[in-house]
Amino acid sequence: LQADTVLSVEDLSVSYGKVQALEDVDIDVRSGETVAVIGPNGAGKSTLVDTIGGFHEYDGSVRFNGTEVADTSTPELIENGLFYCTERRDLFDFMSVEQNLRLGSYLNGEGEEKRLEEVFDLFPRLEERRSQETQSLSGGEKQMLSLGRGLMSDPEFLILDEPSIGLAPVILQDISEALESIQELSVEILICEQNITFALEHADRLYLLENGSVRRSGTPDSLESDKFVETYIGG
Ligand code: ATP
Repeated sequence: LQADTVLSVEDLSVSYGKVQALEDVDIDVRSGETVAVIGPNGAGKSTLVDTIGGFHEYDGSVRFNGTEVADTSTPELIENGLFYCTERRDLFDFMSVEQNLRLGSYLNGEGEEKRLEEVFDLFPRLEERRSQETQSLSGGEKQMLSLGRGLMSDPEFLILDEPSIGLAPVILQDISEALESIQELSVEILICEQNITFALEHADRLYLLENGSVRRSGTPDSLESDKFVETYIGG
């Protein structure tokens, strides 16, 4: 194990009754890295993200800064700088954009105003709509809000579950640019994606998950020419 490993997943297995969703998965994320986990529907990406977030029992080891996730509560994980950013499922529809953003910093109120400004700099569309009710936002705007709210907790480690899902190209471009700005802040980022092109563009390293197992891993360059990966990009 390298000294600068921030997230270390070793021999991870998770099952739902008889369904084995993950089997002997090894993944690590090192300091400052963006890592993507790619794979088709049902590959186990959501199960992986939820397990890292402390929501599943598991066999094997999931360590964040050396601490086993099973020994830590989810609020503690957030306080330790892990933030789990879902695909806009967890926004409060009847609250305003600004209220949802401020909720992101409820465990870490220090510097809230400054971070709100930073999020508005990243996403001017959110600033224009700061008083608007969240339920009236478009899908892409909700995705921005979900990402923005994750940033409000000032995370060291950001997990993005399908950041590109269902987005029109122009919104995808906004999310891409925001992601690049976030990468400059040198946080570690784990992206779970079905959109392999998006993942290849943004990740330092990738893991291809299929039927709950890691089938391939490597840098974008090494995977782009891999026939096995190509079949997914083609599809
Ligand atoms: P998608 O991209 O479609 O969301 P995924 O890669 O995130 O897929 P998971 O949602 O992690 O995949 O599912 C992995 C496997 O576990 C699938 O076969 C799924 O049917 C199964 N599974 C997920 N949740 C449950 C559950 N609560 N009970 C039983 N099986 C489940």
